[in-house]
Amino acid sequence: MDMGIRGKRALVCAASKGLGLGCARALAEAGVHLVMNARGAEALEASASAIRADFGVEVATVAADITTEEGRAAVLEAAGAVDILVNNAGGPPPGMWTDWDRDDFIKALDANMLAPIELIKAQVPGMMERGWGRVVNITSQSVKSPIAILGLSNSARAGLTGYVAGTSRQVAGKGVTINNLLPGIHATDRAVALDTGVAEREGITLDAAKAQRCATIPAGRYGTPEEFGAACAFLCSQHAGFIVGQNILLDGGAVNATL
Ligand code: NAP
Repeated sequence: MDMGIRGKRALVCAASKGLGLGCARALAEAGVHLVMNARGAEALEASASAIRADFGVEVATVAADITTEEGRAAVLEAAGAVDILVNNAGGPPPGMWTDWDRDDFIKALDANMLAPIELIKAQVPGMMERGWGRVVNITSQSVKSPIAILGLSNSARAGLTGYVAGTSRQVAGKGVTINNLLPGIHATDRAVALDTGVAEREGITLDAAKAQRCATIPAGRYGTPEEFGAACAFLCSQHAGFIVGQNILLDGGAVNATL
C-alpha cells in the first residue's frame, strides 16, 4: 500500500533500537526523511546508516537524552519543523509500589509524560499552520491493563493518555492527528530486561521466563519491531486522517477485554 507520505519529514525519538527503530525503518520504507534520536551515538549511527543504505532517504541523527530539557532543545534545533513526530523513550524500572518516592515519580513523569507533551507543544502548532501532521506516542498495554510491577509506567503513561485524549480533539480540525500505540510484549532489549528480572526473581532460566510469558499471549509469541513499525507508518499515512485520539493495542491478544 502506498502510504502517501513520500518526501515528508519525521522526528523519531529513542530510535536506535527496538520499537522506535521499527517505526523509523517503516517510515523510511514509505519514503519519509528522518531525524533519529537516542542517547548512545554508536548504535544510533549504525541504525541510521543501515536506513540510508536500505531506503535511500535522508537521515540526520542527534545523540541526546530526550527526557531532559537540553536534550530536547538539541533534537528540536536539528529537526526544525517536521510533518511526523514519533514520541518514545525508555520505560521506567520495575519495582514494588512501596519502593517509589517523589523523585522516582518525577523521573518517570519527565520521561514518559512530560517529554512527549513538550515535543507535541513544540511541533504541533507548525503542523496546524501547514494543515497536516501526524503524532504517534509509543505508550504501553499497561494503559489499558495495569502491569503491577510497572507502577511508575502505569502512572506516567496514564497521564500522557489523558492529555492526548483532550488535545487530539483540539487539533484534529487542522489536519493533525495524535494517537497512541500501546505495545504488549515485543522482542526487544526491553523485553530481555523484563524477562531477566522475572528469571532472577523466580530463580528460573531466561528461556523459561520467556516461555512463561508467551503462554499468556493468545498469539503465542512476542511481537516484532517490524510489525510495530508497520502499524506506526499506517497511523502516519494519508489513509489514517480520520483516526483521532485512539489507543491502539498491539499485544497478540494479551489484554483480555471485549473493547
Ligand atoms: P529498547 O529496545 O530498550 O530501545 C529503547 C531505545 O530508546 C533505544 O534506542 C535507546 O537508545 C533509546 N532511549 C532510551 N532512553 C532514551 C532517552 N532518555 N533519550 C533518547 N533515547 C532513549 O526498548 P523498546 O522495547 O523499543 O521500548 C520502547 C518503549 O516502549 C519503552 O518506553 C518501553 O517501556 C515501551 N514498551 C515496550 C514493550 C516491549 O515489549 N518491548 C512493551 C510495552 C512498552 P539509548 O539507550 O542509546 O538512548
